[in-house]
Amino acid sequence: MVERIIQSKKRADEIEHVSLRPKTLKDFIGQERVRDTLSIALEAAGNRNEALDHILFYGPPGLGKTTLAHITAAELGVNLTTASGPSLEKGKDLAAILTNLGKRDVLFIDEIHRLNRAVEETLYPAMEDFVIDIVIGSGPHARSIQLKIEPFTLIGATTRAGLLTGPLRDRFGIHQHLEFYSVEELVTILKRSATVLDVELTPEGADEIGKRSRGTPRVANRLLKRVRDWAQVKGDGVISGDVAVTGCEGLGIDNRGLDPLDRKFLSLIVEFYDGGPVGIETLAATLNEEKDTITDVMEPFLLKIGFLQRTSRGRCITRGACEHLEMDYPLSKQTDLQEDLFED
Ligand code: ADP
Repeated sequence: MVERIIQSKKRADEIEHVSLRPKTLKDFIGQERVRDTLSIALEAAGNRNEALDHILFYGPPGLGKTTLAHITAAELGVNLTTASGPSLEKGKDLAAILTNLGKRDVLFIDEIHRLNRAVEETLYPAMEDFVIDIVIGSGPHARSIQLKIEPFTLIGATTRAGLLTGPLRDRFGIHQHLEFYSVEELVTILKRSATVLDVELTPEGADEIGKRSRGTPRVANRLLKRVRDWAQVKGDGVISGDVAVTGCEGLGIDNRGLDPLDRKFLSLIVEFYDGGPVGIETLAATLNEEKDTITDVMEPFLLKIGFLQRTSRGRCITRGACEHLEMDYPLSKQTDLQEDLFED
């Protein structure tokens, strides 16, 4: 029996979705490369009866980093302890967690790029040699002792691998980038979630929600729940294609999965900044949004679908985005047209 210790402050939506989380690697849909790497590493560590190498998962939110940490612990048959970067304020907060880990246990640290320096330095010897340095006493009587801890696996998750310090990044043996999911993969996830939630979802309904989920399982599950409410209140409870479309539109989600904030963000670039380039700080201030929300949550998908370009001078709108928004592509951006004119 696998026992799990979950001791960090979890986001409310994670608790809500707990029953939708796949529990085994077999049930984890998509991310084939990540799954292959993980299953080989799990098997090799199992054969050697050693702790699994430390793993770093990175990529946009909602793609399954936390889920993979849960699955890894379950597959190893060990306990999982979770924490998040900002919640570990002092080295001794981390030391207390590390000394409580059992042999081969998994420690999951979400938002690992937000660890402070003192905590990070406690982590280095723990990751490398399974020891921690503790300072006892203070002033001239202070002395440092070294404590052995059980071999464990650290799984770090981050939306920004680039913000990790070099020494921390280098201590992870396995680095895995999570990609956005295809519509087909999201449809499979939605069908499974509909079964778990006991809601009737037609293939057309799954397809319409899948297309609007920004390549992200968390968004797919959220949309499914909201559309289910809509279907129950306004319809007969069945999520058909039409119900999915109307439900999503009612939530302000358009046929590419953009919400009102995405559309405002893109329109701003056209209306106020002539299509760009415009700096991210300026955009954040104009939108009155956190810069990190824009760069970590909104932009990755807009870049992926080609609605936004990131250049050294700032963000630029694309022709595809203007077509989608039914706005004129700014004249200043029509370089191909200008080149044509020049040639004439
Ligand atoms: P992250 O840690 O990357 O932000 P999570 O692991 O919390 O993302 O995933 C968010 C939700 O999406 C989970 O609750 C889970 O239900 C669902 N999910 C994520 N990846 C998958 C997957 N590959 N298959 C099925 N469901 C998934």
